Amino acid sequence: MILIFFGPPGAGKGTQADLIANYYKIPHLSTGDILRNRLLQNDELSKKLKDLMDRGQLVSDIILNDIISFRIDSKDCSKGFILDGYPRTMDQAVFLNSILDSKNLNINKIIDIKVDENTIVKRIKSRHNIEKRQDDKEEIIKTRILKYLSETKPLSDFYRTQYLAEYVVIDGNQKIEKINEDIIKILKNDNL
Ligand code: ADP
Repeated sequence: MILIFFGPPGAGKGTQADLIANYYKIPHLSTGDILRNRLLQNDELSKKLKDLMDRGQLVSDIILNDIISFRIDSKDCSKGFILDGYPRTMDQAVFLNSILDSKNLNINKIIDIKVDENTIVKRIKSRHNIEKRQDDKEEIIKTRILKYLSETKPLSDFYRTQYLAEYVVIDGNQKIEKINEDIIKILKNDNL
């Protein structure tokens, strides 16, 4: 099963992707986590990545496409996987389509989590108090939301039209458990 979790920063994609990954026993590929992990290497590349990420800017498509094609090729992804944070640009979406086509794989569901902007800001601020992620600072949240609106949100139109049957919208303003229930219901409804 191949799922894409889609939505603005702070929508709860990571939390929901984790729950579904545990439920279906498939890997959760969070590009944010993969990149943050890469920062631990403390080399020239990690310095460049950290600078972009701390400012709420996107990392280049080439790097992300490389990361994802490598992960999808790994053995643990043979029964499916969940994408969270990727694709984030049109270029990444086109690239993903091409690798899935070449492997004869289909996206089963694209789960677009919709959340009000007030809720996004509130959630990220409280996460910052706990996790201290540099990019969760109030002035950076704005940049990330703007990046989302200009680069990522247009992908929802692309997917909505290209994957009419697979694309679903979920109300992300609800409690974690209720969102999880809604997602599982949708997947079960499709015999997934
Ligand atoms: P969020 O979705 O809450 O913004 P993530 O943890 O998914 O946070 O991503 C953190 C940062 O990692 C992003 O702001 C960006 O700099 C980088 N990043 C993650 N995924 C991608 C991607 N697919 N393309 C470009 N940059 C990415």
